[in-house]
Amino acid sequence: MGKIYLYNTLKRKISPFAPLEKKSVKMYACGPTVYNFAHIGNLRTYIFEDILKRTLLYNGLRVLHVMNITDVGHLTSDSDFGEDKMQKAARRESQPATAETVMQIAQKYTAAFLKDIANLNIITPDKLTKATDHIVEMIELNQIIQKNGYAYETSSALYFDTRKLKEYGELARVNFDAMQKTARAETDPEKKNQSDFALWFKTVGKHENHVLRWDSPWGTGFPGWHIECSAMSIKHLGKRFDIHCGGIDHIPVHHTNERAQNIAAMGGPVVNFWCHGEFLVIGKSEKMAKSGENFITLNTLIKKGFNPLSYRYMALLTHYRKPLQFTWEGLEASQNASNNFYDQFLSLEGDGGINKNYQQKFLKAVNDDLNIPRALALAWDLLKDKKINSGDKKATILKFDEVFGLKLSETRKIEIPKEIMELAAKRDFLRQEKKWDDADDLRKQVEERGFKIKDTDSGFEVTKE
Ligand SMILES: [Zn+2]
Repeated sequence: MGKIYLYNTLKRKISPFAPLEKKSVKMYACGPTVYNFAHIGNLRTYIFEDILKRTLLYNGLRVLHVMNITDVGHLTSDSDFGEDKMQKAARRESQPATAETVMQIAQKYTAAFLKDIANLNIITPDKLTKATDHIVEMIELNQIIQKNGYAYETSSALYFDTRKLKEYGELARVNFDAMQKTARAETDPEKKNQSDFALWFKTVGKHENHVLRWDSPWGTGFPGWHIECSAMSIKHLGKRFDIHCGGIDHIPVHHTNERAQNIAAMGGPVVNFWCHGEFLVIGKSEKMAKSGENFITLNTLIKKGFNPLSYRYMALLTHYRKPLQFTWEGLEASQNASNNFYDQFLSLEGDGGINKNYQQKFLKAVNDDLNIPRALALAWDLLKDKKINSGDKKATILKFDEVFGLKLSETRKIEIPKEIMELAAKRDFLRQEKKWDDADDLRKQVEERGFKIKDTDSGFEVTKE
């Protein structure tokens, strides 16, 4: 194990990281709100978190990784405006929003999410915790926050009183007065401060028709989005844990509010390191949209014949704290580069040992705030290094892949032509739409050309017959 350095958003600097408990890291990652497919920008954050976890494991640490699934309480705005995203999705998919249809939506998109992360070779979190399974814990935490004097009740909600907490805004580095000046389209006149946020929504007024609802000391209602993550992380990882991660979009509202709740309830900070991944941008600066042409999912890439791991490879080429520029040409180039990487790896023969010199440099790169672009460049240097024998190269690169996660150990030397992959992907979609006859036609076409399709938990595999 080497010395690990990570950027802590709270301190705005890179600091040495060591687990609070010897050898064991407790890590919480904000998971998806399961109202739609994840887009590749969302998935970039999960790749970053996977790299972080793999780096900790590479250093010989154990990692307990908890991720939540939000199936209630996340409104269309990250602040307290709009409608519950789950409920809106149930209506979008032309069903009346009932508790049952909302839970069906949750199941559908949770399954899609798990398939995406399997396709990207992201290690499944040790625990996936659903918000609707933790309502009791959320109510209890809200009661503690209220008892400690940080909450007040109005006719529509239980609010967190942000003025009461001097640390409020520390994570986002925004002072209290500045936070009050942000103009909002909707405002609850009963709120004491603009930045106050709901710990519990009552099913009255605009939330009168909210279908998922529970009894609470503040009347029937549903939890705020932020309390979910505080309640689930504390329940599964304890009152003090090592790392909380997510996308940078979580810094100003979600994580700021989570941190405030933690301090108000526990009397001090719960999280040791706050780690955040940058956005994916389309072209030069455009953030990925939630719908329309700029809404690109992993399935979009697969349909176009790309291997999902070529997107993973693309993400590895940019440091997680820099915006990832996405273009189709860029993805094509990454697919070619990763294919080249696989080819070079497969051409290595014989057994050997791990090269100490490269191994040391690699550890230094990944432990330097996850410098994966440098680590990948080092792997290429090793492949080209004439002084190292083939067997040693193979053993060393295979070891590096514990962090890269490019599935090198499973790569066989078979070229699957792009048009075959496209046919197989099309067949998979037809199957999902239950168009069995059309799907069978495509399977026959693939088989006639000497390839075989095998269906797996994470999708499908194509092999040469
Ligand atoms: Zn969260």
